[in-house]
Amino acid sequence: MSRFQHAIVIGSGMAGLLAGRVLANHFEQVTIVERDRFPDAPQPRNGMPQSRHLHVLLMRGQLILEALFPGLRDQLIQAGAVSLNPSGDVALFSAFGWLPRYESNLVQISMSRDLLDWTIRQRLEQVENVQFLPESQVTGLIATKDGQGIAGVKIQDQSLYADWIVDASGQTSKTPQWLKALGYEPPAEMFVNAFIGYSSRIYRLPAGVRADWKGIFIACSPQGATRGGILFPIEGDRWSVGLSGAERDYPPTTEAEFLKFAKTLVSPEIYEAIKEAEPLTPIYGFRKTENRLRRYEKMQHQPENFVVLGHAACTFNPIYGQGMTVAALSAQTLDRCFTQHRSSSLKGLARKIQKEVAKVQNQPWTFAINQDYRYSSAEGLKSQGLNRLLDLYFDHLGQLMTQKKEIYQAFLEVMHMLKPASSLFQPGIAIQVLGQALRSTAARETNKKETIEPSTVSNNA
Ligand SMILES: Cc1cc2nc3c(=O)[nH]c(=O)nc-3n(C[C@H](O)[C@H](O)[C@H](O)COP(=O)(O)OP(=O)(O)OC[C@H]3O[C@@H](n4cnc5c(N)ncnc54)[C@H](O)[C@@H]3O)c2cc1C
Repeated sequence: MSRFQHAIVIGSGMAGLLAGRVLANHFEQVTIVERDRFPDAPQPRNGMPQSRHLHVLLMRGQLILEALFPGLRDQLIQAGAVSLNPSGDVALFSAFGWLPRYESNLVQISMSRDLLDWTIRQRLEQVENVQFLPESQVTGLIATKDGQGIAGVKIQDQSLYADWIVDASGQTSKTPQWLKALGYEPPAEMFVNAFIGYSSRIYRLPAGVRADWKGIFIACSPQGATRGGILFPIEGDRWSVGLSGAERDYPPTTEAEFLKFAKTLVSPEIYEAIKEAEPLTPIYGFRKTENRLRRYEKMQHQPENFVVLGHAACTFNPIYGQGMTVAALSAQTLDRCFTQHRSSSLKGLARKIQKEVAKVQNQPWTFAINQDYRYSSAEGLKSQGLNRLLDLYFDHLGQLMTQKKEIYQAFLEVMHMLKPASSLFQPGIAIQVLGQALRSTAARETNKKETIEPSTVSNNA
């Protein structure tokens, strides 16, 4: 018998599905309210337009999903998802050149976002106390009688009441407006926008394709080329391909221009792979890639029984592939906080959870904005002071990664959120970064001398 009666989750994206899964451990009944009608097979739907673009599931996210839905990985592999060793199977061109290729103990799986969502939804439908309410758009929140919390949601002209409400309605969440309508001061917001755009398309894997990689990633970055691309295998013997451009250099969505753009990348592998491959979909563009953080945890007067998770609270530039893993970490946090909460009253729990979720968002948020505000086109928060030093540190680390696989391995573990970013500052790594910085400075000085000396000679002549 659960301690609490009814929880409502607004939205069935990754944050909503996973929140629904963990709340089922603590509530008699969980209702997931979704605006869309669900497709009968792994297919795109209106509220998930991003599923047309490649979704990389980081390893930490994969581990949490497996813990929440045991056997999920095997189920996805059976449905055609591809197992990848990120250092051995993926050729990665960074701002500083190709990264080492070697077999490691890291294993990720690659599939379409539609397959991942569909499989998780099927699993959740089997959980007895979880109910989906599709084709139901939430239009507002209902306050508790004492005005201190949220007691339910409005679905068009109907009301649905619960002891606990989660907003997981994504980037377009209306919670700031809904809270304002109830007399709350909406949360402070901050953003960084580097004006990066995507164009994506799915191809059939050419018969007899021969390559020493399963996936290619040519990173666009503020330190290197501002154009990039990614090609990963997905179920059904297909490649999901995305091109990206920063600083408003948006990749095109027309047939000929798409290939032309691919040809301009710093390395030709993606162009060579797709130039004669059979396209299976139109080309889809996406430009809303700003990072936006809503500081619900800092609200002076935060409503009881109500938390905001996923992209509704913190939207990341999707190019860093963090959104689903942060949704998974947030669900894990929700579960832990409920397990540790011994009282039969929910008073104060929402504030605690929102604070804990903010901690989970902090590292990925910092990672994304530290890159994005280095683009010359970036708007929003500005990099300053200590961040500039960190930028330098990471530039030298990036150079080292091209030469030393143990440094690349350490970076991969942080990128996949298996280890904290602080692990990249441990003495064994920091000392090598310092050495690299000294070598780079010495090389720059030598270059300077060599370019000054000939002109000095000619002036004296
Ligand atoms: C182009 C792109 C590429 C991405 N690539 C990656 C990647 O490689 N790796 C990764 O981890 N993440 C990636 N992401 C992020 C990921 O897709 C999710 O956006 C992220 O996990 C956050 O999910 P969410 O559940 O918070 O929101 P969403 O996925 O946006 O889901 C919100 C849900 O709420 C529903 N909804 C909205 N309003 C209402 C309402 N009023 N009433 C009822 N229902 C409502 C919507 O229909 C939708 O189903 C990418 C995102 C984009 C845009």
